[in-house]
Amino acid sequence: MLKNTFISDHADSSGLSFPDMNCNLMAISRQPRAITKEVRKAIRMARRFNETVVRPNALDMDRKIHEDPDYLPWEWVREANRHGFYTMWIPKMFGGKGYSFTSIAYFLEEISTCCVGMANLIGVHYLGFATLIATWNLALTRRISLEVIQGEKTDTPCLLDFAITEPGSGTDTSEADLADKGNLACHAARENGGYRVNGTKIFISNAHFSTWHLVLGYEDIKKPSDTFLFFAVRKDAGGFSLGRKERKMGQKACPASELILRDCFVPDEQVCVDKRQTKNLSMSHRDIYQIIFDSVCSSSKAGVCSMGAGISRGVYEEVLRFASNTIINGSLMMNLEWVQCRLADMLGNVAVSRLMYAEINFANGMFGLNKMLQIKPLYYLFRYLPVKVVQVLSAPMTRYPVFQKIVRKMQFDWKKREELERTTGWASMAKFTGSDLAVENCRIGLSLMGQAGSRHENRVEKFFRDSKLLQIYEGTNQLNRLETFKSLIGRNRHEIHMFEDK
Ligand SMILES: Cc1cc2nc3c(=O)[nH]c(=O)nc-3n(C[C@H](O)[C@H](O)[C@H](O)COP(=O)(O)OP(=O)(O)OC[C@H]3O[C@@H](n4cnc5c(N)ncnc54)[C@H](O)[C@@H]3O)c2cc1C
Repeated sequence: MLKNTFISDHADSSGLSFPDMNCNLMAISRQPRAITKEVRKAIRMARRFNETVVRPNALDMDRKIHEDPDYLPWEWVREANRHGFYTMWIPKMFGGKGYSFTSIAYFLEEISTCCVGMANLIGVHYLGFATLIATWNLALTRRISLEVIQGEKTDTPCLLDFAITEPGSGTDTSEADLADKGNLACHAARENGGYRVNGTKIFISNAHFSTWHLVLGYEDIKKPSDTFLFFAVRKDAGGFSLGRKERKMGQKACPASELILRDCFVPDEQVCVDKRQTKNLSMSHRDIYQIIFDSVCSSSKAGVCSMGAGISRGVYEEVLRFASNTIINGSLMMNLEWVQCRLADMLGNVAVSRLMYAEINFANGMFGLNKMLQIKPLYYLFRYLPVKVVQVLSAPMTRYPVFQKIVRKMQFDWKKREELERTTGWASMAKFTGSDLAVENCRIGLSLMGQAGSRHENRVEKFFRDSKLLQIYEGTNQLNRLETFKSLIGRNRHEIHMFEDK
């Protein structure tokens, strides 16, 4: 079981401690200052990319895929690859450019002000990468990272995706309690030297572009959380194929596809984590299931919140433009007080979303997946040393299994329960807040613009279709509210029961 080292650090009457609610204040002295420079650089790069690639083409791309649902926007993936975006957030020890995960949220907000589908063509790749990191399989992470880096050099994009959803199970997958009662079916049978996998995954973002699929399977589908494994399947593996591509209402640039595994053999070298790899740890395999999910999702939900902030801002900017150019009953729309109030609401929604993802970034940097890489001496060492030198210095970590064991001991056995709850709680709050406010800003924008808002060329109707999907993936917003309750409100209250509705 996870240790509960909860200390009442000026806990308020609801039981939340000072660090629970003030990660920002704690991060002032702890977070390396150079991260701010990285954030500014990432925003600059995103703005240039928007001006040249995304904004001029976003509406045409949306229309094109609406008319031809099988169209795959490879030209955008290649452009992102040429700009170096698929290696930018891979740590230098694996050969990447080593930007901190904090800066990716600001980058994704910026891209999402033009097209959240494009933002996902980049963001989902790092969801796959975060899964590799969270399982702490350093050798496999190195192997796959080198292929991504090679793909950048040779102009052949090598992307990752994250495949957990199945035809009979969506919400159930990311909570151990729900998984055990769910209808999970991706079966991995143990064989000499690996696993023989049978199963289907659906709605997998970027799957049609991906070289590596990070898949969740189970040795015993009746005991999923006790027998789970994550493994990496290459697109050309025998027994693996892509099924249909979904016809989605929005975010059309980012395909969502079916993965089919029929007697697909996965060798041990491609298993990120399984029962055999965790048997020497004191933490149970089931607890590790939850730690991996909570760690990955605490990163990815910051990204979804930032995409929400991007949509909120994109709509706000369109409405601002509209109100500056539209006359109503002889007055410039911008000069009407009721319009000024609504614009203030819209900007407020952008600000709240950005503060939410900033807070979970602070939490992740101090307590979550980014913790090791944001320890100041390590951060500055990696930042200023050339990639080649960092790779040589860290090579023993990725080559010798003993380092792997030490890292897993630190990341799983020594994980503090209150830190995991803090990051999970904030990530879940940020996810439902950022996505709900994006939908809310679209709603305000559409009502302010009237019939003009419903015209495709005015962009707001596309933002509206795109924003609704943010409420569904990375856990539906209902599930994220329950996770907030579980992690921040219901914790340490023994009378509370979760996930028991029939
Ligand atoms: C555009 C898009 C991209 C996606 N990309 C990916 C991807 O890259 N990889 C991947 O693995 N999956 C992906 N998904 C799948 C996504 O994660 C699931 O859709 C999501 O988990 C919800 O599952 P479901 O659709 O099966 O809904 P269900 O689980 O069937 O839920 C239906 C409704 O019931 C509610 N509900 C269910 N269980 C509970 C509960 N215990 N308590 C309260 N309410 C509950 C839900 O909130 C929802 O409102 C994507 C989905 C979309 C739409």
